[in-house]
Amino acid sequence: MDATCEALGRQINIMEVCGTHTVSLFRNGIRSTLPRQIKLLSGPGCPVCVTDQGYIDTVLELADRPECVIATYGDMIRVPGKSRKGCCAGGSLETRQNTGNVKIILSSEDALQIAKENQDKIVVFVAVGFETTAPATAVVIQQAAKENIENFCILSNHKLVIPAMKAILSMPTNKIDAFLCPGHVSVIIGYGAFKEIAEQYKKPCVVAGFEPMQIIEGLAEICRLLIECKSEAKSIYTAVVTEKGNIAAQKIIDECFEPADGLWRGLGNIKVSTLKLREQYSKFDAMRRFGLTEKQVEEPTGCHCGEVLCGLMEPPECQLFGQVCTPQTPIGPCMVSSEGACTAWFKYGRKKNGANGQKNGR
Ligand code: SF4
Repeated sequence: MDATCEALGRQINIMEVCGTHTVSLFRNGIRSTLPRQIKLLSGPGCPVCVTDQGYIDTVLELADRPECVIATYGDMIRVPGKSRKGCCAGGSLETRQNTGNVKIILSSEDALQIAKENQDKIVVFVAVGFETTAPATAVVIQQAAKENIENFCILSNHKLVIPAMKAILSMPTNKIDAFLCPGHVSVIIGYGAFKEIAEQYKKPCVVAGFEPMQIIEGLAEICRLLIECKSEAKSIYTAVVTEKGNIAAQKIIDECFEPADGLWRGLGNIKVSTLKLREQYSKFDAMRRFGLTEKQVEEPTGCHCGEVLCGLMEPPECQLFGQVCTPQTPIGPCMVSSEGACTAWFKYGRKKNGANGQKNGR
């Protein structure tokens, strides 16, 4: 990689799209071993982090309704709401846990089971995540339809990764040379899905696994493609990622959902970037059931999660980082999620190199 950087004679900006890559890069000390010319930028691949504030506030508003039970994966419960008069009361799902209206689940099936066991309540499943988790949501939607479960619905905020990458590349401020593409999502969509990015935007896309050597191999492959001026999409995570992905999973997503415009934290409204339930399953749509509309809410004051997610800012550049905002007292979702860039910088990036993060800002 050193030779590649020297040959290119400039800094190379590589965005690691996935939060699991971000954490692995830090935890295994890979960032500090890379040539100085390689700059890694964390991208919009942490599902908790990209979930917009309006969605979080809607979840909290539903949690405050006595007839509702919120079923959520554990990583969402500490994301703070934005207190607004007559709307969201602020706090988080965690601060509401003592009401009995919030249940932490390990799978989408758990959410459906809670509905079956609590017929006097309406169970709302907090359906977030990328193409990786969408098939599991689709499975329970079809199951609920088959069993005619009336008191179950989902607040769908499943995201599609390619439109987000395109949105970032369309920003005039972006300096991305290549992408280290997410392993989990690619199992479902296949590495062929990134050809569009590679060909249209001339940015190499390499899918890698999460072990240290797999990540290093992925970065080395990106360097090789850059020096050869090849903008290709490929996978070195060949054990699980194929060109076409998991066709069965894609099929069930397509049966239940259709792509729609959707709000992302930091990226705003992105066209055809979110999965909405198809009309056939609309009775399981919490937005429809409760007559809700999507709302655009600003990020918490002083929080720069949006810029962090777009690779425009590193967490230590946020004035709240490590002072007001810590994993114990998170202000934004990037400090809540274990896969958030701010959490990773706080846990692994500060100690050795001082409060401003890794040396040389890498
Ligand atoms: Fe937001 Fe905290 Fe990260 Fe700043 S450090 S961007 S306030 S999550």
